Amino acid sequence: MNSDHEIVFDNSYARLPGQFYTRQLPVPVSSPALIRVNRALTGQLGLDADWLESEAGIQFIAGNELPEGSDPIATVYAGHQFGGWNPQLGDGRAILLGEVIAVDGLRYDIQLKGSGRTPYSRNGDGRAPLGPVLREYIVSEAMAVLGVPTTRALAAVTTGESVYRKSMLPGAILARVARSHIRIGTVEFFAARGDVPSLETLVRHVIDRHYPASENTENPVRALLDLVIAAQAGLVARWQLLGFIHGVMNTDNMLLSGETIDYGPCAFMDEFDPGRVLSSIDHGGRYAYGNQAHIAHWNLSVLAQSLLPVIDPDRNAAIESAQAAIDTFPGLYQAAFQKGLCRKLGIWAPTTDDEPLTQDFLQLMKDEATDFSLSFRRLSDLADQGNEEASIQHLFEFPAAFIPWLERWQQRLGSDPRDAATRQMSMYSVNPVYIPRNHLVEEVIEAAELQQDLEPFHSLVEVLSQPFEFDKRQTRYAIPPRSDQIVRQTFCGT
Ligand code: AMP
Ligand code: MG
Repeated sequence: MNSDHEIVFDNSYARLPGQFYTRQLPVPVSSPALIRVNRALTGQLGLDADWLESEAGIQFIAGNELPEGSDPIATVYAGHQFGGWNPQLGDGRAILLGEVIAVDGLRYDIQLKGSGRTPYSRNGDGRAPLGPVLREYIVSEAMAVLGVPTTRALAAVTTGESVYRKSMLPGAILARVARSHIRIGTVEFFAARGDVPSLETLVRHVIDRHYPASENTENPVRALLDLVIAAQAGLVARWQLLGFIHGVMNTDNMLLSGETIDYGPCAFMDEFDPGRVLSSIDHGGRYAYGNQAHIAHWNLSVLAQSLLPVIDPDRNAAIESAQAAIDTFPGLYQAAFQKGLCRKLGIWAPTTDDEPLTQDFLQLMKDEATDFSLSFRRLSDLADQGNEEASIQHLFEFPAAFIPWLERWQQRLGSDPRDAATRQMSMYSVNPVYIPRNHLVEEVIEAAELQQDLEPFHSLVEVLSQPFEFDKRQTRYAIPPRSDQIVRQTFCGT
């Protein structure tokens, strides 16, 4: 770790040829003020948290002062948005400041989101309102502790300026961290132009940076495709197992690194409903909870198609190879989901005979509209005798319709290898009691916007940093919304 506040940048993406980005400085803001620095993450990145919280650090997060060694760029990409092709996108309100090598030896991007107009802004103002910045901070950090690969929130500031959406809103900037910001849409951009040399350069960069294991294989690009497919299958399975709805799974919002990106209209489900759609602009239900694996598969086939020229110069051979890769997705996803589901139910050594049991649980949750997270959490209570401290029985109990199923489940656990106490511990460690419920996120945003009160935000972030440990004093963060608190729609962060 650095002893002083110096950030050591090493900007591999900015060293690529100019067609991958436009050099662009953040546009300064008038009077930035700190919202929060993520001290745990600064430690992992080897950054100085005290410095980030200082006036100089705030100027850095605001994009007003560029640290030495940063080489700010806006990257270019394309993408399929709600299934429709958009040949020209790019960082319209984000600037990649540069890359750092973290304590774990891995390379991370530091990007400012909401940092002003770029050549890719089109009609947008390049800015972000406070609400979406708080939402992304809360949800991305919750995802990280829940074990989901994700972009991270390093810090956030208010800008002292207003942004105009449906009304005037306070502006903010989020410093975001990711393994990289290379999207399926980045590959699509060069593929669509038939720019094979750039495609080759990009693919080489991604292999070196994220999937070095594919280098020594017979066909590194095919191996890369396989690894991205596997990463995405695992990622979407994790979303499903937490009841997470991404909400805007456009191909420009899927990273080749396999991290979750773009916390716009996202939400965690309260009552289980696979058809649940939250995004205000998703009229056809394309990005509903129950459709996410299907959409990931679709997006990955767009990636495969885009990679054809670099998989094999013989087009038929390339198609055959890409198709074989794509066809593995449903099996990989299903296996990851089923294994995770069995873990959530306390089954350590699953067999295919467990499928009716797991499916029936999902079906019951749907029929009885029980709370997704609390159903799994309550099941964890029932995996062992009286654990009074941890029990959420006073918050949630299964409806009577579950009784026959619960008996089948107990019977099945009888033939699983582990003892009850061990089983329960592992169930508690995968079934969170605290998730960033939409009504809590909205409450925090409202306090910040209307009362300039950030305390509710800080409290929520703190509670969500220990999602698996029930604390009776924090009950209000565990329970589903009352009917008058239910948030029925979420909106894009634009
Ligand atoms: P998103 O829906 O966040 O994935 O954004 C889609 C595209 O619109 C991206 O290329 C963004 O950079 C761009 N964009 C979104 N909001 C703004 C904004 N306020 N100003 C400029 N560009 C934006
Ligand atoms: Mg996006």
